[in-house]
Parts: sequence; C-alpha cells; structure tokens
Amino acid sequence: MTATLQPIAAVSTGLRTGADFLAELKASKRTVYLDGALVGDPTTHPAFREGAKQIANLFDFAADPQNRELMTYEVPETGARALRCYQIPKTVDDLRLKRLASEGWAEQTFGLMGRSPDHVANFFAGYAAKPSVFAKHGQQWADNVVKFYEYARDNHLYIAYAIVPPQIDRSKPAHKQADPQLYAGVVREVEGGIIVSGGQQLATGGVYADYLHLACIHPLQPGDENHAINVAIPMDAQGLKLYSRRPFAKTADNSFDYPLSTRFDEADCFVVLDEVFVPWEHVFIYRNVELSRDQWWLTPSHTYGNHQAQTRYATKLRFLMGLAKRMNEATGNEAVPPVQVAMGELAALASIVEGMLLAQEAKATIDDEGVVWPSKAMLYAVMALQSEINPRMIDIVREITGAAMITLPSSVKDFESPETAPDVERFYRSAHLDARQRVALMRLAWDFIGTEFGNRHQQYEKFYGGASFIVKTNMFRNYDFKRAGALVDRALSLPPVGSD
Ligand SMILES: Cc1cc2nc3c(=O)[nH]c(=O)nc-3n(C[C@H](O)[C@H](O)[C@H](O)COP(=O)(O)OP(=O)(O)OC[C@H]3O[C@@H](n4cnc5c(N)ncnc54)[C@H](O)[C@@H]3O)c2cc1C
Repeated sequence: MTATLQPIAAVSTGLRTGADFLAELKASKRTVYLDGALVGDPTTHPAFREGAKQIANLFDFAADPQNRELMTYEVPETGARALRCYQIPKTVDDLRLKRLASEGWAEQTFGLMGRSPDHVANFFAGYAAKPSVFAKHGQQWADNVVKFYEYARDNHLYIAYAIVPPQIDRSKPAHKQADPQLYAGVVREVEGGIIVSGGQQLATGGVYADYLHLACIHPLQPGDENHAINVAIPMDAQGLKLYSRRPFAKTADNSFDYPLSTRFDEADCFVVLDEVFVPWEHVFIYRNVELSRDQWWLTPSHTYGNHQAQTRYATKLRFLMGLAKRMNEATGNEAVPPVQVAMGELAALASIVEGMLLAQEAKATIDDEGVVWPSKAMLYAVMALQSEINPRMIDIVREITGAAMITLPSSVKDFESPETAPDVERFYRSAHLDARQRVALMRLAWDFIGTEFGNRHQQYEKFYGGASFIVKTNMFRNYDFKRAGALVDRALSLPPVGSD
C-alpha cells in the first residue's frame, strides 16, 4: 500500500489553463471502467475527450486576462489570484460576484454541465468559512479542512463528490447492510491515515476531476460511525475505481444530429473504493455522526454549492427560453395567441428561478464570524419546486412545438446524398431558415429534451440536490413559521369589534 497523494504544493501564482488541465488529466493514471474495460486516457477516449475539452475551455475562460475580474479574486492571505468559486464571501456583494463568475462558466456550457469545477469548490469554501464547526470536535479536523481548502484554492483544483450511499437496501442503515463494507466507510486505521472501502454514488465529473470528495449527506445514526467520514482522495489513488454510466457518445455519432450529447456529457460515475489509503491530513470528519450532519447545515457549504447550482440552472432555463423562441420563429407561430400564453408561462417560471437566485442574495445574512450566508429559505424554496418546475417547462416546449423535433431527416447524411438532398432541402426548410438551419435548430432542441442526454438532464434536475421530499424538509426547517404564526396570533387577539 502506497500513498498516491501529491504533497501540498506551493502556492501557484499563475491561473490554470485548459492545456494545463488536459496535460494533468492525461498524466493522471485514474481507474475508469467502461464496458468492462479500462478507459485509459480520458483526453483521447471517444466517450470522454469532448467533455474534457469543455472543462479545459472553462479553465481557459477563467485564465483569459479579459475575464480576470469576473472569474477570479485576489486571495487576501497570498496576494495571488484564485477562482471566485473558492472565495469566502464577507459581503453580499462578494456573493453577487461569485454568482456572476458561476454564470460566466455556466454560459460556456449553456448550463448543461452541472458539476463544473465551481460546484464542489463552493462546498469547500463553505467548510473553510466555518472551521469552528469542525474544531468543536477536535482542532485537527478544522486545520485539515482549511489546509485542504487552501491547497485546492491555490492550485485551482477540480473536485467531484460522491455523498450519497448506494441504493442497495435503503430499508436498513449503513452498518446493518449484509456486508458492512458495502457502503463507503472507514475499514481500519493504519500508520499515517485510514483505509476506506465500499461504494458511493454518484461522482458526476469524476472522470475529469482532480480529487474525489467522499462524504455522506444521508442521515446517519448511532452504529453508522464508520460511514460518518469526510475525506479528499486524488482521483488516481490506488484502489479508487470509477464506473461510468453509459456515455452518450456511444449513440451520438455526429455533432450535427447530437449537438449537445457529443459535447456536454459530464460522465456520472459510481465510485468503488477498494482499500484506499487516505492520509490523516485529508481526513476532515472521522467516525462522527454529529459532525457528518452539521457539515451541511452549520456551515454554508450546502448553500454556496447550491447557489452555484441555481446560477447554472437559471442559465440553462435562459437557453431553454431561447430555444422555444427560435422554434416558434422557425414555425411561424410567434403571433399565435395560445403560443404567446404558453411562452408567457414559460417565461414566468424561468423568471421565478432567476428571481429566487437574486432573493438568496437580497435576503443573505452575515453571521457572528463575518461570513455571508445566502438565504436558506429562498434557496430551498426554489430547489424544492425544481422537480415540478422543470418537467412542466419541458412539457410546455413539447406542447408548443408539436412534431417539429420529430419530423426531421434520419441524419445529416440525408443532406449529403444526391438522391435525398433535393427533397430534404425543399421540404424541411421554414419560411426564414433553409433546411440545414432549421434541422440544426430542431436537433438542438431534441437533444436538450428528448434524447438520452436530454432525459438524463431531467433526472439530474430532479435529483442533483437530493430527492424533493428531502429538499422540502429543508424548506420546512428554514421557513419563518414564527413570524407567520405571530400574525395569526395577533388576528386571534384582536379586540372584539365595537369594544372601543
Ligand atoms: C444525473 C445525476 C447526477 C448526480 N450527481 C451527483 C454527484 O455529482 N454527487 C453526488 O453525491 N450525488 C449525485 N447524484 C445523486 C443524487 O445526489 C441522488 O440521486 C439524490 O441525493 C437522491 O438520492 P437517491 O437517488 O438515492 O434517491 P432516494 O433518496 O432514494 O429517493 C428516490 C425516491 O424514493 C422515494 N423515497 C425514498 N425515501 C423516501 C422517504 N423517506 N420518504 C418519502 N419518499 C421517499 C421518493 O419518491 C424519492 O423521490 C446525482 C444524481 C443524478 C440523477
């Protein structure tokens, strides 16, 4: 057993470029399985290379001097520039700037890569904002999480996370599973650290990320201590295996017919840990059920990560609005009153999501340690309804477009064959678009809504922040019932009419 961790690097002064990212990904010997075989180099593998390029593009965007202010901030302790996702907001304006940086990245992928590097970075900013929560259980845990955060921040790391136990037998707690090492957890202590084993879902972006953040957001109970951990593991650590779900590139054979599937597959991976060594410096929670719970709710990690997620979602909905508009224009339906009503409903829903994002900032609070928290009530309100808003919006687009996304040639090859091209050019056009332009637009919409890629997105928007019954419980815990109840009490205590 050897430690595969890199030593904590010196503070780097330059920003990470796309070329840096791709070179490091290529050099990293991570274990990714696909179709029963090792993937090898994700930067050249047909299932993953385009996704890797998208992440590289994000790093290039942030490193571009033109985007320096938008995407980075000066770290007070070092004077170096770091990605804004690592910034701990001390003012509400800092939170706004973090949102704008996330929006800058989200626009590069049209909001289609949910676990871009700013997602988990924000969780670590949230942990590092409140070391006191960790220190309550031992100063070493606070020191470890702050040091790792600084390392990640100063090296512009991309971290993916797996924080949900597998769905093997949810009727029993983790420690009562038939095999006690089924769910990820600590197996034993060894010199210099711990050994972890077991499975955990679902490291989206794991194929590309530098590190895995392994923790547990599901409620744990006494007896589950071995699973109550929070650790960081380099993706190329010995014994860490990633099982990719079926990549969309398998069926998406060209970027004309599958413009999104071919580019923005962010590779969800089931994680298997087989006797993975984690040095103590990368252990932030150890066999502690209470801290395992408190990390999410007594630090702003969950709110920072999901403020980013909602920024990404609002961007994606803007893209959906644009798609619906362009499709109506193509079909000549724009002026039809029922279509305008449907578009109005779509616009209302998209604006509610955007408004709730701004409300998280407008109702943000600053705690006694000077840390800004986005409003939990505003965050969980929109997240709780996302699993209803999203399918509703997709359904409206289906409603107003009829067969437009289906009545299309079988593939781009129909434009290329002299036998089919004349009919295709003639009948698949619209009043304002030639056939190629119209088909490209409808393919884009279908890839957004109807392909395997599009359907995975619907599942993603439903579950990325936890099942909706859990988010609604979060909402329940954070609504100001006291103020609401007081209103009712005052109404009940009004003096009888005519008593004055
Ligand atoms: C595309 C995609 C990407 C993801 N990416 C990541 C990632 O990067 N990192 C990560 O850690 N996780 C990720 N997840 C996993 C995600 O966090 C989980 O799917 C999510 O937490 C929900 O957990 P679950 O899938 O186990 O569903 P469950 O919690 O089992 O819920 C499924 C359904 O079961 C029912 N149900 C279960 N228990 C109850 C109950 N007690 N009361 C009422 N109803 C109940 C509800 O109908 C619920 O909707 C991703 C998921 C998807 C779909």
